[in-house]
Amino acid sequence: MRPVDSLVTLARRLALRLYPPTCLLCGAGGESDLDLCAACRADLPWLMGACGRCALPLPVAPSAALTCGRCQRRPPPFDAAVAALHYTTPVPALMRRYKRGDLQAGDLLSRLLAARLMGLAERRPLPQALVPVPLHPGRRRARGFDQAERIAGVLARQLGLARLEGRLVRLRATAPQRSMDAAERRRNLRHAFGAEGRLPAHIALIDDVHTTGATFTAAALAAHAAGAARIEVWSIARA
Ligand SMILES: [Zn+2]
Ligand SMILES: [Zn+2]
Repeated sequence: MRPVDSLVTLARRLALRLYPPTCLLCGAGGESDLDLCAACRADLPWLMGACGRCALPLPVAPSAALTCGRCQRRPPPFDAAVAALHYTTPVPALMRRYKRGDLQAGDLLSRLLAARLMGLAERRPLPQALVPVPLHPGRRRARGFDQAERIAGVLARQLGLARLEGRLVRLRATAPQRSMDAAERRRNLRHAFGAEGRLPAHIALIDDVHTTGATFTAAALAAHAAGAARIEVWSIARA
């Protein structure tokens, strides 16, 4: 163990003594150094069966390798999608806490995604690098942090992968998409992203929520143009 690793381990042990893990949902003691108790963990809306291409929930067994009808008709510009949870109670509330600056909520959600990915890693190769989908600099300044960047940081640590920051950039601010349909979102995001330099051949794009896929689609097109050949899209929750 390198001296710096043993220092990190020591710091983590000390932090666990000072701040024992506490469930962010009910206040009970956390389990296996997560801020989540076993009961609340079991109650989370885990995304089990889903389209392997776009993570759209499907009524299939979790292990079935299925592609939804939409992806068969019009394949997205990414090759695989993983999301840990459905975007239903209590996930939206946790996500709002995270975006308001509760970094513990963000770290918990990120670690749940990391656990899901570790299960998948036994069956298929992991990407060479993680690339967060960037917020526009103005929005990042207003919030004080970039949520996708932090999620990518936790995943990189937990999975032992490289994280490439600042390689995918927002070229312009886009209007908030909450009330837009899929076609409006696509128009809103056209040419919203660009890449700085070349990207590795196999990457995963990271974002907090996978809604219509318009953001991942726009980011994947920019990543393809920068040399990425196999692109996965990873998110905490699928709406
Ligand atoms: Zn709990
Ligand atoms: Zn699909």
